[in-house]
Amino acid sequence: MKVLKFGGTSVGTVESINQVIQILQENLNEGRKIAVVYSAMGGVTNRLIEIGKLAATSDLEYLQLLKSVEDRHFAAVRGLIDVKNQSSAIAKVKGLLNELEDLLRGVFLIKELSARTNDFIVSFGERLSTTIVTEALKNRGIDAEYLDARKVIKTDDHFGYAEVIGDLTNELIRKHFAQTNKLQCITGFIGSTIDGVTTTLGRGGSDYTGSIFGAALNATVIEIWTDVDGMLTSDPRKVKNAFTIPTITYAEAMELSHFGAKVIYPPSLTPAFQKNIPLKILNTFNHHHEGTLVSKTASTKEYSITGISSIDDIALVNVQGGGMMGVAGVSAKLFSILAANKISVILISQASSEHSICFAVDPKTAYGVKEILEEGFATEISQGLVDNISIEQNLSVIAVVGEGMKSSTGTSGKLFTVLGKNGINVVATAQGSSELNISVVIYKKDITKALNAIHETFFQVDGLTLNLYLVGATGLIGSTLLRQIQEQKEYLKQRKNLNIRLVGITNTKKMLLDEGGISLENWKEELLEKGEIANIGSFVSDVQDLNLPYSVFVDCTADKNIVQYYYSLLSSSVSIVTPNKVANSGRYEQYFMLQKAAQKHGVKFLYETNVGAGLPIINTLQGLITSGDKINKIEAVLSGTLAYIFNNFKVGDRFVDVVKEAKAKGYTEPDPRDDLSGQDVARKILILSREAGLKLEPEDVTIINLLNDACLNAPSVDAFFEELEKDNDRFEKLLQDAQANDEVLRFIATLDSDNKASIGLKTVGRSHPFFNLAGSENIISFTTERYKYNPLVVKGPGAGAEVTASGVFADIMSISSYLV
Ligand code: ADP
Ligand code: ASP
Ligand code: MG
Repeated sequence: MKVLKFGGTSVGTVESINQVIQILQENLNEGRKIAVVYSAMGGVTNRLIEIGKLAATSDLEYLQLLKSVEDRHFAAVRGLIDVKNQSSAIAKVKGLLNELEDLLRGVFLIKELSARTNDFIVSFGERLSTTIVTEALKNRGIDAEYLDARKVIKTDDHFGYAEVIGDLTNELIRKHFAQTNKLQCITGFIGSTIDGVTTTLGRGGSDYTGSIFGAALNATVIEIWTDVDGMLTSDPRKVKNAFTIPTITYAEAMELSHFGAKVIYPPSLTPAFQKNIPLKILNTFNHHHEGTLVSKTASTKEYSITGISSIDDIALVNVQGGGMMGVAGVSAKLFSILAANKISVILISQASSEHSICFAVDPKTAYGVKEILEEGFATEISQGLVDNISIEQNLSVIAVVGEGMKSSTGTSGKLFTVLGKNGINVVATAQGSSELNISVVIYKKDITKALNAIHETFFQVDGLTLNLYLVGATGLIGSTLLRQIQEQKEYLKQRKNLNIRLVGITNTKKMLLDEGGISLENWKEELLEKGEIANIGSFVSDVQDLNLPYSVFVDCTADKNIVQYYYSLLSSSVSIVTPNKVANSGRYEQYFMLQKAAQKHGVKFLYETNVGAGLPIINTLQGLITSGDKINKIEAVLSGTLAYIFNNFKVGDRFVDVVKEAKAKGYTEPDPRDDLSGQDVARKILILSREAGLKLEPEDVTIINLLNDACLNAPSVDAFFEELEKDNDRFEKLLQDAQANDEVLRFIATLDSDNKASIGLKTVGRSHPFFNLAGSENIISFTTERYKYNPLVVKGPGAGAEVTASGVFADIMSISSYLV
């Protein structure tokens, strides 16, 4: 004997019922003995509950809803049964619907809906669907018989969650089956008391009905037919990459379903487990898929965990008080009060100080629980032993489940690391002593992000995915970066098992966000075609609302307006990568706050390209400092433009011509004073000083001006060149003097041993590492305690879109390696 149970979606439409009939037919053709349990048509139970409530509040709208329920069932009859056979089916369905209508009329009149009446109302869902499928089977010539489970499943009178009287039920089921050979079509979900009052077994209880029959009849297998390919590693509605768990133990399935994996109703596992009857979870709509086998043992698994489930809405009740310490009686009393009131506790966590116990319950019951406990602990409260019973709402719980956790270490470490790195706060946690389950309570807003991040980390089906947002996409650096990522995409996937998903891009005109990913090949077209009018504020809030795991915000602009969002982005656990110097070269307070925010929220704020484009300058400096070295001096040529100008300034040249030539070649800003004023270099040495641990402000950097006031104040670029020409002698003299001493001119930023930062034109001799500098190269030398006599020097091209973008890319990659 095999028992099959079909869920709401399986009997939800004419097409799906035809699918069910085909599955049954295949079983019968193979000569199997089967019994079949059905749920109400999908959505009908919820509808009936709603109708009952409306009727009880004298809202006549209940009649319209009832009409839609009636229509749906009649349409199923017409769609499934030949016209010539329809009348008897219609009569049966009509009989049930009339009875339901009378019942609701009664509720409407007396304006009262008890739990008992509610159970009676919802029982029509299963009775209607099972009647229709039975008639449809008969119509196909199958000798089917309707079995109202209320005849055989006997329960107590705890309406809504009735408890089954096992022995009696088993006996009645066996007796019934002993006297019939017809294919039994059984109503799921419902039972009755000894006195014959209708009860229900809890939402999702048709699975339980299937299991009760399976156990009573010593079935070889109980098949739970639903709308997904078995029990999956996580809820597929929340985690796209969830996949079928081929085999699972009863205990694991119990934990997963207890913590929200709705695919099977937890009590259903008990009768099957007690009799060691395997359960199979199968997909009506993909019926050749193997699905999931639930049994005593499961085959060894590839992963350290089996699955992850969650309950979206829970409330935490916290009972606190000095009197709880070491007094075993308090928790015993607490749980007996809860049990006596049939309050189901989802999770319990007790601090080792025993000063407080907190437990999770359904939020609908939370305030009732508080009242019950305040009453139960009235004496302890008046004696000050228990001082507070508080409730926290808007929480969810996630359970990571698997027998494999016993044999592998580090599961909880990994779990908390993932949550930490995504800035997800853990409000409470509990680990079952069986080491089968670790549960964490988190804020509800983080649930999808948390599930996906955990799933990605433990199962790595498709590798890890970084979700990227790019501001300044169409600029030179931004577009170069996207091209580089696109070229490297395959390699990253193959070699690093890493995906970079471009989720959002914006420039000053348009913005586009697409959770599914924007094409790295056609992003320009997509932005043009599908983009909305750009608004950086709403772009940032979209990034925050999407709340995707492993999010990275890349700012490839030099815009100060974007910087104002950094703090809030970091605080929402979004990492930031940027060549934009504005944030780090403003007030120290801002720099410091951003560093702290990144640390606090477990994310990264990376800006290697703030200094020397793609050259490893900031990383090198951070490496020296964190490894305990002490910086004695930093000297650097940090402007490619100024390096170029002074490399090309030879005796006999007029300085103004060298500057003009540099401008013509595009090496300077449109106004060359932006380079020659040294402001940009000042910002860079300021950032390096801060990285070296100094609390410097912008005005602390001494700028020895290269240009005289007349040059600086000239009203136009042309007027500036005229003034520069007049100042030619000064530059010529500087150069001649240098040459006389066998030295060269270099524009150098310095952080000296007195912790003073300055920039200005200097001369250096042959022994100095900056003597031989070519073209527009940057160079930086770190003199430290460890590199005391021979400084650590980094040298290379310090400007240009290609190297800057590659520096940004390297920062993004370093975030990924920190995550894995
Ligand atoms: P039925 O009506 O067949 O009883 P349910 O809606 O009660 O079906 O349960 C099936 C649904 O459970 C799936 O459609 C899926 O959305 C949800 N679900 C939640 N967690 C899981 C999980 N871990 N594996 C499979 N399904 C899950
Ligand atoms: N129809 C019931 C419900 O929706 C029972 C079930 O589908 O398992 O809860
Ligand atoms: Mg179900």
